[in-house]
Amino acid sequence: MTSTTDHDRARRHACACPCGEARFEIRARPFARLYCHCLICQRIYGAPFADVSVLWPRDLMPASPERVKTARYRKPPALDRSTCLACGRPVHGVLAFGPLRAFAFVPTANLVSVDAPAPVAHIFYHRRVADIDDSLPKYSGYWRSEIATTMMLIRRGIAANPR
Ligand SMILES: [Zn+2]
Ligand SMILES: [Zn+2]
Repeated sequence: MTSTTDHDRARRHACACPCGEARFEIRARPFARLYCHCLICQRIYGAPFADVSVLWPRDLMPASPERVKTARYRKPPALDRSTCLACGRPVHGVLAFGPLRAFAFVPTANLVSVDAPAPVAHIFYHRRVADIDDSLPKYSGYWRSEIATTMMLIRRGIAANPR
């Protein structure tokens, strides 16, 4: 358990879903950003891929449960995704391995008052709707995407904000 310091409180950043009904805060700048092409993201984001920023779960102060619907779409690992009850768009998600809460994900568009980090990779690229012409690494295959993502996020997360 980390104690909340004045410094932490000073770094709170406002976030919200596109309609503004589901408001929440993050307590640190996200340390990575991914483009996820998985089928669940395609469906929930209503887009060819999801643009998500990543932070430690302890830095996410989630939206009020009355404003969101939270559901688990596959397991394991279990990603709890919250969508806004008013607009139906994604609000945030938390990825857990068993009792361990590993990463929190926020749609980059929901970062209202903090700059988004630079994107680092495309994942689940084998599910892509269209080829992407950029220089980012592209991970295909379920386990390759999972393992590459997990290692990269842990490395970046620890470098940015040791836990
Ligand atoms: Zn909304
Ligand atoms: Zn996805």
